[in-house]
Amino acid sequence: MDPYLSIVIPIFNEEENIPALWSRLSNVLAGHFSDPGKSWEIIFTDDGSRDRSLAMLLEIAKGEPRVKVVEFSRNYGQHSAIFGAFAEVRGQIVVTLDADLQNPPEEIPKLVAKVEEGFDVVGGWRQGRQHNDSFFRTMPSKIVNAITRKTTGVFLHDYGCMLRAYRRNIVDAMLLCKERSSFIPALANSFAKRVTEVPVAHAERAAGTSKYGLWKLINLQFDLLTSFSLLPLQMLSVFGVITAAIGFLLFLGLVAYRFVHPEGTAQGVFTLFAILFFFVGCQFVAFGLLGEYIGRIYQEVRDRPRYMVKKVHQAQ
Ligand code: UDP
Ligand code: MG
Repeated sequence: MDPYLSIVIPIFNEEENIPALWSRLSNVLAGHFSDPGKSWEIIFTDDGSRDRSLAMLLEIAKGEPRVKVVEFSRNYGQHSAIFGAFAEVRGQIVVTLDADLQNPPEEIPKLVAKVEEGFDVVGGWRQGRQHNDSFFRTMPSKIVNAITRKTTGVFLHDYGCMLRAYRRNIVDAMLLCKERSSFIPALANSFAKRVTEVPVAHAERAAGTSKYGLWKLINLQFDLLTSFSLLPLQMLSVFGVITAAIGFLLFLGLVAYRFVHPEGTAQGVFTLFAILFFFVGCQFVAFGLLGEYIGRIYQEVRDRPRYMVKKVHQAQ
């Protein structure tokens, strides 16, 4: 029989966290989801870990048939890992969470209750966000939040929190999206009718370090900016029109100046350089942005798989 609740957890080099995660998670599940009508399954994706994570997960799965481990062939990133697990879910309600215990498993029943109330997507809203996450980690999240709000038109306080619950049909809809760069919280909202947030506790990373370097974050940023809207391209055109207009006015001004001061000198040259450099910079940004869209089109037309599953492990 299909379970009621599916829990999805991406794992990348989390050997220090797995034992605590498993014990806290199994406590919560035993406490809240023990009747037969509320059965559960857990799907771990091992996203190409290079430490003992996979071995530890397999050890857990050996003794517990409700645990499934999706083994990736290499590291494909958190969101691909979640998709890899989504492909395996069978529950009616799907909850995602991070393995590093920043999202307390004890909050899961609260999210599930909200879905039962009738919401399609329930996001966690991290309270007391740990600001000893480095500056490079918190600052980009703020930008991510702001941009996602704009581009998806759904107001949520916290798009970055991966402790989230979805009704199964939302997950199925997301699985139909073949584009390779998908920011799951934003994607989910584009299919949901009723979205809400519940405050959840937020802890420090229990052990290990964040798997997000600055570069991965910049990548995520581009994903968001380009996969949900054409707004950046439209802004480029608007900017082009405005600068062209300014340039034209400047030209008129210079002509007029020539008439008033026919002996006019070349003193404006350096100002002109400054202006020129500014616009050259803008052009590079514009090219980069265009290139970003074209690169993404290229990736989409190649239509390679988003990830490769080496094996799905489950005890019988
Ligand atoms: N993760 C993953 N693949 C990656 C990077 C991260 O599966 O390439 C997992 C990681 O094991 C954790 C979750 O995604 O369970 C969130 O990662 P992390 O805590 O490093 O992100 P942060 O909390 O800094 O956003
Ligand atoms: Mg974390």
